[in-house]
Amino acid sequence: MKLFPRIVLNRGAEKRVRAGHPWIFKSQISKIRGNYENGTLVDVFSHRGTFLGRGYLNEQSQIAVRLLSRRPISIDSDFFRRKMEAAFRRRQALALKTTGYRLVHSEGDFLPGLIVDRYGDFLVVQILTLGMETFRDILLENLKELFSPQGIFERSDVKQRTYEGLDEKKGLLWGEVPEAIPFVENGLNFLANVVTGQKTGFFLDQRDNRLLVKKLSSGRRVLDCFSYNGGFSVAAAVGGAESVIGVDISEAAAKEAVRHAELNGVASKITPVNANCFDLLKMYDRQGERFDLIILDPPAFAKNKKALAGALRGYKEINLRAMKLLNPGGLLLTASCSHSLSEVQFQQVLSEAAADVRRHLVLRQKGLQAADHPYILNIPESGYLKSFLLQYVAD
Ligand code: SAH
Repeated sequence: MKLFPRIVLNRGAEKRVRAGHPWIFKSQISKIRGNYENGTLVDVFSHRGTFLGRGYLNEQSQIAVRLLSRRPISIDSDFFRRKMEAAFRRRQALALKTTGYRLVHSEGDFLPGLIVDRYGDFLVVQILTLGMETFRDILLENLKELFSPQGIFERSDVKQRTYEGLDEKKGLLWGEVPEAIPFVENGLNFLANVVTGQKTGFFLDQRDNRLLVKKLSSGRRVLDCFSYNGGFSVAAAVGGAESVIGVDISEAAAKEAVRHAELNGVASKITPVNANCFDLLKMYDRQGERFDLIILDPPAFAKNKKALAGALRGYKEINLRAMKLLNPGGLLLTASCSHSLSEVQFQQVLSEAAADVRRHLVLRQKGLQAADHPYILNIPESGYLKSFLLQYVAD
């Protein structure tokens, strides 16, 4: 049997790993025994010499090891095949009413560093770490065999790769892939813009909230802030909204939103606005505009812990502005996808915003990323999207 370099952890560092977390930080390593190069497979042991798992090493990253298995098994093509099959079975069990979903969610599916999204017969792949990069060919072969896609596109054009010493990468990996792939989610028609769109072409993680918006919109005047390609706007319009304004700073996004509105037969209800939401919310307040449902789904303001203070100000600002624009009985669906902002901190920001505008907001519902983006309790970093549905009640 092949012997791998041995990583010995500092005393006590095994606790989190034993609880189910697959990461080992550089600062938790006491020694590395054997010859190694970055990207290689390693075996991890506690300070007392107990085997903890097998994973891959990259000393260039703060996260030096990510575990692939808790057992000393072969990490080969079969291993990846089993993991992908299991991830797929879990998606089938969710009985999602969509042809666009996340098939593999990195740590959340025990394949750290790999993301696979499926849009109909096409796959979009992100390889985020050096360790996963070493299995590129095996991963592709397995994806082709298991899912028989018409094409596979790579969107590894993300900053995270630079922390691993990798270049960003984007392009066709196999077969043919159209620029915009049609898919159907809960009866709504969308196009995943896999080549030039954000993420892998669509915000699949907001699926549950789109459905919620569709259910809540009837007869309401809706404002969709940070609307991107109009997923929420379309859901609101199809759900019977009286009118929808969708606001995004990107001109390209506004064009895609129009296309989505047309595809769903609701173009007459949606007005796309190309503007900065911070400015627009202020202007609407000055003009006395009011809404019955406001959606706030901004980009991650806190990209890391250092950026948190500024991010908190940003979240507070947009939320208090939106709260002011609500009619009595009006709803605010507000989200944060910042990894480094916890749900508790986000709720605190919302409380402060409500205090500043001197309004009572009833907490109607809390939400998470959709279930095809698994959030493992003992891997806090696998959860990132949190949302609150609030209702303004005049006393
Ligand atoms: N709600 C969307 C996803 C939003 S992603 C969905 O469900 O699909 C965040 C969006 O905010 C991006 O499209 C980005 O272009 C836009 N954006 C970033 N800063 C902005 C700002 N200050 N004003 C308006 N839009 C902004």
